[in-house]
Formats: sequence, C-alpha cells, structure tokens
Amino acid sequence: MSLLCVSIFVDASGDVPLAIDRAVRAVADGARIIEWRLDALAEEPDGLTAIRRLLAESPAPCIATIRAEDEGGTWQGDEQTRISILEAIGTGDHPPAYIDLELRAWTRSANLRQKVRLAIDHASQVRDISTRLILSSHDFGGRPANLISRIADMAATDACTVGKVAYMARSLRDSLEMFDLVAERVKPMIGLCMGEYGLPTRILAPKFVGFLTFAAVDDGAATAPGQPTVRELAETYRFHDIGPRTRVYGVVGHPVGHSLGPTVHNRGFAEAGIDAVYIPMLVAPGWESFKATIGECIDHRRLDFGGCSVTLPHKEHLLRFGREVGAEIDPLAILARAANTLVVERDADGGVSGLRVLNTDSVAAVESLAAGLDPSVPPIEALRGRRVAIIGAGGVARAAAAGLLAHEAEVVIFNRTRTRSENVVRDLRDHGAISVGRTMDELACGCFHAFVNATPVGMTGGPAADESVLPDDLPLDDSMVVMDTVYTPRITPMLAIARDRGARIVDGTAMFVAQAEAQFEAWTGRTPAEDLFASVLASRPGVRPESS
Ligand code: NAP
Repeated sequence: MSLLCVSIFVDASGDVPLAIDRAVRAVADGARIIEWRLDALAEEPDGLTAIRRLLAESPAPCIATIRAEDEGGTWQGDEQTRISILEAIGTGDHPPAYIDLELRAWTRSANLRQKVRLAIDHASQVRDISTRLILSSHDFGGRPANLISRIADMAATDACTVGKVAYMARSLRDSLEMFDLVAERVKPMIGLCMGEYGLPTRILAPKFVGFLTFAAVDDGAATAPGQPTVRELAETYRFHDIGPRTRVYGVVGHPVGHSLGPTVHNRGFAEAGIDAVYIPMLVAPGWESFKATIGECIDHRRLDFGGCSVTLPHKEHLLRFGREVGAEIDPLAILARAANTLVVERDADGGVSGLRVLNTDSVAAVESLAAGLDPSVPPIEALRGRRVAIIGAGGVARAAAAGLLAHEAEVVIFNRTRTRSENVVRDLRDHGAISVGRTMDELACGCFHAFVNATPVGMTGGPAADESVLPDDLPLDDSMVVMDTVYTPRITPMLAIARDRGARIVDGTAMFVAQAEAQFEAWTGRTPAEDLFASVLASRPGVRPESS
C-alpha cells in the first residue's frame, strides 16, 4: 500500500492555525500523512514553538522537512541551527513520524548524522512510535548521472528507513525507468519524477508499491512541479484503489493537461468494477518521440499498458505506428488518415497478444449528427441522402467525412486553405458523394440538411474564441442541424446563433462522449452505463449540458 501524502508549506507562526485547517481538509479528502514544510517557519525567532504546535495538532502522522535551498527548499540558515531544530523536535513530546533529510547533507556532516541518530534513538526509547529517517535527493535539472548509486547509498545507510529520489522528467520514458527502480527497491522507496512528464509516477506509486506520493492540498499549493491535488488523486484517479495488478490506460498528446479523458474513463472503470486507471501521458511532438515512447510503454511488462487515446499532434503518428508494427487497423482510420485509439491486448501472462488501431472520432461524429437529425432511426437511415457541409479539412473533418460517406450522406468540404479541402475530396471521392465548397457563400444555398464545424473556431483559448464559422446571414430553420465538434464551451458562438435562429443544435460533448464510449468498449469489451459519461461531463464546471 502507498500513502497519499499532502505537503503543506508553513510560512510563518501566524499561519499555523490555517495550516492545521488545511491539513484537516486534506485528510478528509483522502490524505493519510502530512509533510510539514518548515523551511520558512524554522527561520522565525519563535519558529520552534510554532513547529511544536504543528506537530502536536497534526491530524495525521507527519513528516518534518526543513528543505535546504540547494535541493529546492527555502531554508537559508546554517546547518548547525537546522540540526538543533531537528534534534529538538525529534526528542520533543510530539516527534514526527519521519524526518526528511537530504542524502547530500547526511553524507557531508558527521555532526548531523550523530544528532539525527540521537534524536531517532531518543524518540524510540521514550515513545511507542519512533521517528524514522527519510533520506532524499532532488534534481530540478533532470535525471542525475549517479541516480543508481544514490539509491544504493540510501539503501546501505542503516539509519535510513525510506529512500526518496525526485528529479525533473524530460520525457515519459524517465517515468518508465522510475517504475522499475521503485519496483526493484531493497528498502521502502519514494520515486517521483517532477513536471508534467512525471505525472504518471505520482499517480501510479501504488502500482509499483512506492512508499508514498505527494499531493498539493489544493490548486496553486503545489510544493513541487507537477504535483496534483489530493482530490484529483483520491477522486479522479482513485489512488487508494490502485494496486500492482491495475491495468494502465491513458491519453497521449501534447498538451494533455486539458483532457477530459481521465474524468470519464476513470469513472467508467469505477462503475464497471474494472481494476484499471487512465492517466495523462505527455509525449513531445514528433514521430520519433511518439514511436519510442509508445513502443516502450507496450513492452514495459510491469506497466501493464492496455492502450490509449491519442490526441494532437499524434493522430497521424498512431496510424503510422500501427502500420509499422503490423497492428490491425480500422478501415475508417485509413480513410481518415489518422487514428485516436490504441488497444493493446494481453494474454494471461501479460504478454502482448494483439494491437488494434481505431478512429472512434469517425463513429462518434456519425452517431452524434445522426441523433441530431433523427434519433428515432438507425444512423444509416438518418443520414442516407442527407447533404452535410463540413467546415474544416483537418483530422476531424476527414474522420467525419469518411464516416458520413459510409452512411451514404453527401458531403461538401469548406476550408480556409483550399488545397487541403481538395486533398480530402481527392482521397475520399471513391467512397461516396463528396465535393469541395468553393466559397462560403455556397453555405447559404438552402440545400444543406446539416452543418458541422470541424475547426477550433469558437473554442475557449483557441484562435477565434468569439467567432462562428457560419456566415451571419445564413438562413436556418428547424429542419436543419448545426453541430460543433468544439466542446469548450459547450454552447459555442456558432451554436448560440444557430439556436436563436431556430436550427436544431448538437454540441461537441455529444461527439466527445460517443468517441470516449467507443474507446472504453474497445479496451474493456464493456459498454459504459447509459448516460454515465454524459452525466460525468455535465457535473464538471464549464462543461454544462443544455438541451438543444
Ligand atoms: P486540425 O487537423 O489541426 O485541423 C484544423 C482545421 O481547422 C483546419 O482545416 C484548419 O484550416 C481549420 N482552422 C484552424 N483555425 C481556423 C480559423 N481561425 N479559421 C478557419 N479555419 C481554421 O484539427 P482537428 O484534429 O481536425 O480538430 C479540429 C477541432 O475538432 C478541434 O479544434 C477540436 O475542438 C475538435 N475535436 C473535437 C473532438 C470531440 O470529441 N468533440 C475530438 C477531436 C477534436 P487550415 O487547413 O486552413 O489550416
């Protein structure tokens, strides 16, 4: 079992009551141990009194840390003073469960070693629960060259109960190495990679039986780069349910921090009683980094990687990867020239027994639009013979067009860059009725049953957040459907205008939910409970459902 530890900085003695309140809240949210970061408090004239109060009132067992500046802390005092404070709290009435000290300081100072040993011995003689020692090392510039020997030094130090290594990950592959180091530990170990590339090591600590993982009490309170909050770990990732047999899925992209995937898929696993977790997996842009990282994830036996969602900029890379490794490839992914789902099938021993590459965006766009046109009949009947204008010629436009043609709809592609729309039409023209929209004025011909925005226009934080891709004077009525693939905000400027003009609207969450449901089914063979993903999204601030 791994502990969920909340790390709390206490800046001044006046902040102690607030710090204790925050710790109480963190324990209610799922934290099992508190790290009191005393770097600043220890420098105050009456700091020791405040520290004693913190330790006495700590709502859970705690770690006392006065982190030196050269390892990412703020402690600027001299080593003698730091030793005296650690000795005083170790031999006081409420000794912490653990004292954290840098391996570097421990190695450097015989005096410190002696004083810390005394404090530990004293505490264990007079109390049931003795203070133990965590020896730690931190590197904010990347993986230290002597990482392995540091871990060996921690293991060889009798007084050290737990070894801790933390360094800034340069890629997800650093996390994979850390998983092995933690799994092969000779004494309890904390092994964490910092930064966004290192997030998997924080979430998956229980899978490799890391001693603990650190979390922030709330947003903006992280004590190291990349630290999630206690609530995210406990609720979204179900940290306390993760164990050595938990299968790992994720979302691969750059960026991935905004993805709603972890929210819906982890809830899906929980509701279906499936021992699996879905995590953000940041992979740097470029084919080489994608290929190397995904290949290593698949081959990493301990990770038990079951597959992933793939988003920008790696959708074309996934298709190429599938071809290179001889995966079974969904024909819609070939038509769309992009894929968004990897399925890794494993045998009972954990070996890879099959790889599948799919494009669930295509199925999702078809299902959402068909439901908007006529929910009472199967998609093929709702779409057959309908004329659909797609605005955009990127990956989603291709996926939607391929799926719509397979359902016998007629498609016209409108795009800012004409050559791209011509390329889509050239690639798909053998599969149905598809043509290029020459000017945006053609949208007003009165001959379209549906309009689909497959550009980022209207997306919060995107290139034209307040704009609509449809002309202002486009005649609309309730026989027409306007669908957006953008889902943040849920009602984009285009959808708001279309609704005001009387058209039926389909927002981007419908497509998001449909593609996520298809992925869940591909990975698990199970269909998520009806409306589960939609209701999970609806309960999130900023992604509120509205009936159209
Ligand atoms: P993509 O391959 O980068 O293509 C983007 C398309 O948008 C291109 O055709 C581009 O035109 C056009 N475009 C970009 N900025 C524009 C602007 N300011 N004005 C007019 N056109 C513009 O992206 P994608 O993968 O197809 O994704 C498109 C959108 O789909 C994303 O923004 C996302 O919101 C949405 N999406 C939704 C879901 C879902 O589940 N709901 C899933 C995936 C994606 P040019 O060719 O001229 O550059």
